[in-house]
Amino acid sequence: MKEFELIKEYFSFSQSKSDTVVEGIGDDCAVLSVPDKRQLVTSVDTLVDGVHFFSDSDPADIAYKSLAVNVSDLAAMGAKPLGFTLAIALPKVDEVWLKSFSKGLQEASADFEIPLIGGDTTQGPLTITVNVLGSVKADKAMLRKSAQLDDDIWVTGYVGDAAAALGLHGKAQSSDLNEAESYLLQRLLRPNPPITFATKLAKLAHAAIDISDGLLADLGHILEQSQCSAKIKVGSLPLSEQLIQCVGLEQAREFALNGGDDYELCFTAKHSMRNKILNLAEDFQVNVHRIGTIVEQSDEGVFLMLDGKPYQPKRKGWQHFST
Ligand code: ADP
Ligand code: MG
Repeated sequence: MKEFELIKEYFSFSQSKSDTVVEGIGDDCAVLSVPDKRQLVTSVDTLVDGVHFFSDSDPADIAYKSLAVNVSDLAAMGAKPLGFTLAIALPKVDEVWLKSFSKGLQEASADFEIPLIGGDTTQGPLTITVNVLGSVKADKAMLRKSAQLDDDIWVTGYVGDAAAALGLHGKAQSSDLNEAESYLLQRLLRPNPPITFATKLAKLAHAAIDISDGLLADLGHILEQSQCSAKIKVGSLPLSEQLIQCVGLEQAREFALNGGDDYELCFTAKHSMRNKILNLAEDFQVNVHRIGTIVEQSDEGVFLMLDGKPYQPKRKGWQHFST
């Protein structure tokens, strides 16, 4: 199979033209229109076989996640998707693998309403690079440095699920998972960044970040860049029933604070925005929870509180899913 046939067969699923995509796949570059009074936003992430995904993972899931993690970065800025490019290195032309990969990519492209507008295909160890392009209203991007004193701290969706699912990969190959475990694994394999909600959130919120390395680590970036600290109520962390069922409340809290791969948003906003944020979340069927407050900068960084007392996260302990 020649390179151009491969591109035509597996990577030409997006409608080539729209209001914003003037020229899609097929020329030397794609041509986009950036809507008036908006700014271009872009981000790129590379996923390497054996490092960012398991070699034996379903190619459809690998593709879905490759795009989802990039869309998550657009969501963190409050950007509206314009399009994405895909640079892929393949060890060989495996049509069964490519067909499945293309299907997963197409599903993500449809779910996040972002067309594939170009890319590059080469031979080499399996490596997937996705570059996303989006737009925000001029100077309205949600930046890490924009948190303000007394802001509420919010989180979308549930946190900790993906971290709990990491140990399920081996189990999923050999035996059936129960319902709660399947839910957790789906959360790891198919992240669902709240992109349409985030696009509208930009006019209500101050700072935002997507949770890829764990809530505490990612909130830490907001605090550092905004030069402030945070008070977090551990009892208000959004934990899924399934997570609690599989690992217990205490370990669920640990995963929520320190586990990665959630691809939810952590954002800050003024108290006066509470109702507007709740209404917006309802409109887009996104769960949002208020978990704390931005306070004056101190050495502590994040104060974790549970039932009015300081809370010490325990990083060790629970190992149930490991084999
Ligand atoms: P060039 O040699 O000019 O870089 P290519 O032969 O690499 O062109 O690509 C031809 C067209 O196919 C371009 O529009 C490019 O963006 C697109 N393309 C190549 N690989 C991919 C891919 N994996 N996914 C989507 N589009 C691709
Ligand atoms: Mg090329």
